[in-house]
Amino acid sequence: MANQHNGIVIATRGRSFEVRIEDGSHLLCEVRQKVKYTAEDETPVAVGDDVLITIVNARSGAIDEVLPRRTAFMRPLKGQEAKKQVIAANLDSLGAVVSINTPPLKPGLIDRFLIAARIGELTPLIIINKIDLGEADEIAGIVDAYRQLNHQVFLVSALTYEGLAPLEEALKDRRTLFAGHSGVGKSTLLNTLIPGLDLKTKQLSISTRRGQHTTTSIEMYELPNGGFVVDSPGLKVLGLWEVDREDLPYYFTEFEPYSGDCRFQPCTHIHEPDCAVKKAVQTGAIHPVRYQNYVAIAESL
Ligand code: GDP
Ligand code: ZN
Repeated sequence: MANQHNGIVIATRGRSFEVRIEDGSHLLCEVRQKVKYTAEDETPVAVGDDVLITIVNARSGAIDEVLPRRTAFMRPLKGQEAKKQVIAANLDSLGAVVSINTPPLKPGLIDRFLIAARIGELTPLIIINKIDLGEADEIAGIVDAYRQLNHQVFLVSALTYEGLAPLEEALKDRRTLFAGHSGVGKSTLLNTLIPGLDLKTKQLSISTRRGQHTTTSIEMYELPNGGFVVDSPGLKVLGLWEVDREDLPYYFTEFEPYSGDCRFQPCTHIHEPDCAVKKAVQTGAIHPVRYQNYVAIAESL
């Protein structure tokens, strides 16, 4: 078809979708009925989907077809836990944004993000923001624990711009979902990475917060040097609803070489005697930060 174009779904707008086409323009698109019927999961069209659209006029179009998804990052549908909603499709990476300070880093939080990334088949990027606030020793221990596992760790300050270049390099030409607890500086970081974006940050919106509607909309932003970042305000549940306590050790892959030697099989590696995993923690073969976080997550499940 002559006026059919390839596009990427950038955002949901009520029942319509904002789609970016090749020339960089954005069109508001409705979804043709047949698309809804042919898609077999709970979210026929999601942010990040590659689509074929027909242009209707300069500002609007119609989604004719959703192309097969490479990846789909999901969460349970509110009130219907058996069903899943696709948060975003075709992502490459999960940017786990945390801060050591204000708010303090919760034990196990980074590890939860790593589990979510594994479930969603995304490359995890561990982004530690607010490094201008200090706590150098604590940061060094954490960086150590994850770099030992060959994860990418970025120490940044969205305020002073420290450490941003390597992060920008990792985000370039890829699609990354940003996740992080409220207050860690996700919006500030996005504003820094994307000049002109102007997302509301806590300080700016505090006086109007009461009147503000709490948005849970998912939106994809284009990076100036190529690539996209998906912001997901209010995204707290991250994959862990899929993990049973017995399966948790499986996500701590560095336990694997040792767990076969535990006296009890299966072993939770918490209170059993003659536990080879606990011995490996004592000898330093397994990082104590990771083990502590394992225990914290196990106890929360
Ligand atoms: P969000 O909830 O994750 O989107 O967090 P915001 O971007 O709204 O930031 C929360 C607060 O942290 C604001 O007061 C920001 O100014 C502050 N903040 C963000 N990034 C940094 C940083 O790198 N260093 C410091 N010191 N403060 C920051
Ligand atoms: Zn054990």
